[in-house]
Amino acid sequence: MTDLREMKGIGEKSLLLLKKLGIENEADLLEYYPFRYDLIKKSNLKELRDAFVIIDGVVAGVPKIFYIYKNLSKISFPLQTETHILNIVIFNRSYLKQSIKVGSCLTIFGKIDKHVKTIVASEIRFGPILKESIEPVYHTTNGISSMKIAQFIDQALKKDVYPIDFIPKEYVEKYHLLSKKESILEIHHPTSQQKLKQALRRAKYEELFLFMMKMTELKENKMMKIGLKRSIAFTKVEEVIQSLPFSLTVDQRKSIEEIYKDLSSEKRMNRLLQGDVGSGKTIVAILSMYMNYLSGYQSCLMAPTEILAHQHYDTVLNLLSSFDVHVALLTGKMKSKERREILEKIANKEVDMIIGTHALFTDDVIYNNLGLVITDEQHRFGVNQRGSLKNKGITPDVLYMSATPIPRTYALTIYGDMDISSIASPPSGRKEIITLLKKEEDLKEVLTRMLEELKQNHQIYVIAPLVEESDKIDLENVYTLEKKMNRAFGKYYKIGVLHGKMKAKEKEEVMNAFQEGSIDILISTTVIEVGINVANATMMVIFDSYRFGLSALHQLRGRVGRSDLQSYCILISNYETERLSVLTKTNDGFKISEEDFRLRGSGDLFGSRQSGTQVFKLANFKEDFSILKHAKEDACAYYKSEEFKNNFVLKELLKKSEDLD
Ligand code: ADP
Ligand code: MG
Repeated sequence: MTDLREMKGIGEKSLLLLKKLGIENEADLLEYYPFRYDLIKKSNLKELRDAFVIIDGVVAGVPKIFYIYKNLSKISFPLQTETHILNIVIFNRSYLKQSIKVGSCLTIFGKIDKHVKTIVASEIRFGPILKESIEPVYHTTNGISSMKIAQFIDQALKKDVYPIDFIPKEYVEKYHLLSKKESILEIHHPTSQQKLKQALRRAKYEELFLFMMKMTELKENKMMKIGLKRSIAFTKVEEVIQSLPFSLTVDQRKSIEEIYKDLSSEKRMNRLLQGDVGSGKTIVAILSMYMNYLSGYQSCLMAPTEILAHQHYDTVLNLLSSFDVHVALLTGKMKSKERREILEKIANKEVDMIIGTHALFTDDVIYNNLGLVITDEQHRFGVNQRGSLKNKGITPDVLYMSATPIPRTYALTIYGDMDISSIASPPSGRKEIITLLKKEEDLKEVLTRMLEELKQNHQIYVIAPLVEESDKIDLENVYTLEKKMNRAFGKYYKIGVLHGKMKAKEKEEVMNAFQEGSIDILISTTVIEVGINVANATMMVIFDSYRFGLSALHQLRGRVGRSDLQSYCILISNYETERLSVLTKTNDGFKISEEDFRLRGSGDLFGSRQSGTQVFKLANFKEDFSILKHAKEDACAYYKSEEFKNNFVLKELLKKSEDLD
């Protein structure tokens, strides 16, 4: 495929702009798909219900131009359509004045106000609407229009050279797919709704097929990587299990067994442990580290925040106190002397388990026989942060933990390159959290309910969407809530504040105070969403709860209901949304994630996997899920086929694909 430089009308400036859009050669250009299509069809002004119209007519009077301010001009002229005389107004296109001539035919796109017979045009084209057409609209960037992109694409189409078709013949036949050429032509120049649909289906299938091929390749590569083969005396692990203050749930046991198998085999572990907030993943992590320790290796456990790292550290010390393991904490906030000492201990293998934040993976940390790396709340980390896990130690086994459960069918696809353990049900004896939906005018009732909890010496979380007042949006913030709560309870109860803008030390002090019970009401932003564990907290009140996503709300709610005490979550919102009502109906994270998926589509799921990078150009994870399922099956089969062995072009492409971790 030729360089874009050789194309007409593409200078250095356009090159840069196109590059910004991810277009670097002709193939990219041909596969730069429209993000939407407009149906160009003459509006019938009589039947008109929506305000946007496309209409053609003849200019019936000399256009007038008005300069309103320095940066605002307006052209206005009458247009005779088949049925009406309309007044057309267009802003900031003073350059059009010369070309709009009385008697010439124009097509107007814009919003009509029927009462004053005026269209405020967003676009004016010369000439009439000849026939109905479907017009592609491309994503643009400042300095390059959709029209311009269409012109470049047309130039490329003229060459009649198309990008490589990666769909194996048998699937083209099986699904009656269009050829790559037909599909690309149709996508940029649709001839009918139906044919366009076929073309898009083909392009999506190819995209998803390639995605699944990559997944399969990643999985195979990881399986091939030789990990550490250990022999672990499970009786020793059993001793720890027996010493715990609770007995493990069935799912916890199953997860531990799965991890035990992985660690014992020479296959490298690459496992995702998913389970709802409060389902008890931490103990699984601790036992995994213990197994790793028994076989003579160091482990590290990375938490997304300082607070959580401290909490895990305390938990490990506490649960393993009567066993002979050495545990260290390593965070970014440590004093350099303290840090040096710990680094030395790590390097000399005087410690077996290191708990910390991403400070665990800065360059100066030298591990000694690092055999297991665990990442807690893995969806919190960006790809890059996780990327830096590599290069340390031997080839350590890897365990990711996530509290954003994904419905299993989806998980198998998105995390197709990992093995998955799930903790589906929480430890028994827990009472379901009761979730109530309240309006701001019900505040008195909410305060009464809060008082009932406080009287029983229980603690409460209060959540606000903002830290401080904002003049842009009218939402509750931490500091006004602090005042309100102080007015209501300040005389008898202690109120604390926690948010992301505070210094780490302050945050820690507040958290500790809440943990010890010397703070009764903790007012916070979503910084407490992650992992904090205070069993005596039995109520969570979330203000302006409609502002939060479903998963975020579920995560927040998971901070309560952590003991056998009855817990409550009160969602305050003046707007009732479907999201909020889902929460009042279920506590099951898997169901909630399914609902979230239904309501919001794929964005979030992939957000968690890919930290915002768009994976698909065309396919939508949710809408095209059935295509994805086929693509997955086909990719798995094709990967094993004889044909793939000789498909060097595809192999080359897969090699280029990056590791998702
Ligand atoms: P998460 O999965 O959100 O990380 P944690 O591991 O923090 O959950 O567990 C939440 C709470 O449940 C902790 O206080 C933990 O001690 C407790 N817990 C874990 N497993 C059990 C169990 N099998 N029975 C009773 N309590 C448990
Ligand atoms: Mg946790």
